[in-house]
Amino acid sequence: MKTISVTTLGCKLNFSESSSIVREFVQNGFKKVAFGKQSDVTIINTCYVTAQAEKKSKFAVKKAKKVSPNGKIIVIGCAAQLNPEKFVKYDGVDFVAGTNFKFDIFNILQCNNEQKIFHSDVNEIENCDEAYSISERTRSFLKIQDGCDYHCTYCAVPLARGKSRNISIEEAVKNANIIAQKGIKEIVLTGVNIGDFGKTTGENFFQLIQELDKVEGIERYRISSIEPNLLTDEIIEFVANSKKFMPHFHIPLQSGSDDVLKQMHRRYNTNLFCQRIFKIKELIPDAFLGIDVIVGFPTETEQNFNETFNLLNDLPVSYLHIFPYSARPGTAASAIKESVPSEIIKNREIKLSELSDLKSYIFHKQFVGTTQSVLFEKIESDKKILGYSSNYIRVSVESNNDIRNKICNVKILNFENNIMNGIVLI
Ligand code: SF4
Repeated sequence: MKTISVTTLGCKLNFSESSSIVREFVQNGFKKVAFGKQSDVTIINTCYVTAQAEKKSKFAVKKAKKVSPNGKIIVIGCAAQLNPEKFVKYDGVDFVAGTNFKFDIFNILQCNNEQKIFHSDVNEIENCDEAYSISERTRSFLKIQDGCDYHCTYCAVPLARGKSRNISIEEAVKNANIIAQKGIKEIVLTGVNIGDFGKTTGENFFQLIQELDKVEGIERYRISSIEPNLLTDEIIEFVANSKKFMPHFHIPLQSGSDDVLKQMHRRYNTNLFCQRIFKIKELIPDAFLGIDVIVGFPTETEQNFNETFNLLNDLPVSYLHIFPYSARPGTAASAIKESVPSEIIKNREIKLSELSDLKSYIFHKQFVGTTQSVLFEKIESDKKILGYSSNYIRVSVESNNDIRNKICNVKILNFENNIMNGIVLI
């Protein structure tokens, strides 16, 4: 039996797509093996969001060639779309498939002649390929949207993935039912700009979550990341009253300076952002709020950074995802002459991660002594099992039973090393 392996860099959307692409190979007689094991076909699903991610994509090709010298290596993903010539030169690469061809690679492999690059202009892409992950984890990444029309000045995603487009609500519900039939209890809605869902079908995100809420068998949904300007009151109110949509929001702020937000071409200001945060905390006090923030945008002054620090310091957020600015070729910001020295970026990153640790401690500490509903995912070590509460708290318990993929009530005893330890209530 032929074997296939895959390695995926980057976002949840990439994971959902890798899973669907490999599933077609498995449905056609291939056996999936772990990346790093010798395989007849290896797929490298690349990322372009930072220079570091692109470098990792290159190393993955080298590793694949080393472990499977006679195997076929196929490179897909955002870096492949933006730099096909570069990847096709790497030793061992059979062909590179851009954004519009990544779901055709099984067929391309069947009838491939000598063509090495399958590529087209992303702006020609109209359809949104369906994708979801089922086997890799207890939670599934369900792709609902792709591409983006925002063109924030630092971001290359629209260059790699094209215009905003989405599957229909009917297709999303169909895929959620398939995932439920596999016994998976949690779905993470994923895409590039998911709040923009509905643009190509005349529907909207609020309608989508109402329909998904009715799907039998799925007990939990998480909204991966949503733009502040698209996170409406009705969506927050719906999540507040839903038993299935979890009290967990991931919202990109990027900067706490309105001047910098303007130069990033973001579609909100700090006032709107704060309104969203306080609206959520008013209706869902226990909600987990993960916030994206970029440090070192080329024009960010010390004063701008202090505005960001002070704003986040004053807000009831739970965790900061901190990204040092990485200039991406082809983006408007990469043409900006000024730049922030790397040691200053490093210092700002350290300051914000210290703030994030404090926010995380304050957030988690308040749940000691409470009872939380936890979906268990992973056996950590002897008898220790790890899972997540509805509001995305990592919880570890001791158990003789394999309670993975089970939702149990847990009494939280303490918070140590960023993990809540508890006991399962029978
Ligand atoms: S909203 Fe902005 S940052 Fe997000 S994918 Fe679109 S262009 Fe990139």
